[in-house]
Amino acid sequence: MNLSDMGYDLTGKTALVTGSSRGIGKAIALGLAQCGASVAVHYVGHSDEAQAVADQIPNSCIVQGDLLDDDAPRKILTQVREQLGEIDILVLNASMQFRQAWDEVTREKFDQQVIANFRSEFEMIQLAAPQMIQNKWGRILTIGSVQQHRPHSAMIPYAATKSAQETMVRALAKEFAPHGVTINNLAPGVILTDRNTEALSNEDYRQKVMDMIPMSRGGEARECVPAALLLCSNAGSYITGIDLIVDGGMRLP
Ligand code: NAP
Repeated sequence: MNLSDMGYDLTGKTALVTGSSRGIGKAIALGLAQCGASVAVHYVGHSDEAQAVADQIPNSCIVQGDLLDDDAPRKILTQVREQLGEIDILVLNASMQFRQAWDEVTREKFDQQVIANFRSEFEMIQLAAPQMIQNKWGRILTIGSVQQHRPHSAMIPYAATKSAQETMVRALAKEFAPHGVTINNLAPGVILTDRNTEALSNEDYRQKVMDMIPMSRGGEARECVPAALLLCSNAGSYITGIDLIVDGGMRLP
């Protein structure tokens, strides 16, 4: 088997990557595009960043939508369908994350994380999967977190939404498997993106985090891309319902 026969060619496929204006989502969007997919770049506020990503992709569009809005899942999918057609590959990457001690968690922040990280994803799958099932081909990838396995005590609702997401993936994998549609979860460890720049700028905290990672370093967003491409292409045709951890060993006890 040579490399071009391994099933990574996504020519003719259309992908939506939520939260692909920056970070891991951006890296995955560019990776899918390199494999030939048309890509919808989704964002909430950073339109210039989203446009800059789309500018690097021959067949692309940008779509705006705040996952906290009740009608965001429907609006986002409609925008993609109007511009690029039906969605073959759905990467649910955007999330919200707040640091609050367990006894300081507010209902507002609790609900926001549940809605953005779990409910909106479930609804996007409800809207996108029927067409994939009809086409007898589809790929759904959720982006979880090493916190499914090692929850941070100051991010309990966030970690719990990531575990809920992974539970959903296992349940839906059995539903979708007979129809040529796979659904998997990719769980990154500490990846050096905008999200944790500020926290890691504190040297004591940074050292504490690095001490938890057997590879003693944070990952780059691009290091999540090979695993994502496997799970979003024909290369991963016999893989469904898994939790693929990309964490430099951080989950290990
Ligand atoms: P990031 O750099 O903070 O980027 C977040 C992305 O999500 C941006 O595109 C942002 O859009 C979008 N977004 C944020 N809130 C949104 C909302 N309410 N509605 C719609 N879109 C929203 O994130 P990242 O670090 O790459 O993380 C990507 C995924 O990996 C997340 O699911 C995260 O939980 C997971 N993860 C990350 C790490 C890590 O260490 N970085 C570790 C484990 C898991 P704008 O650009 O428009 O703001």
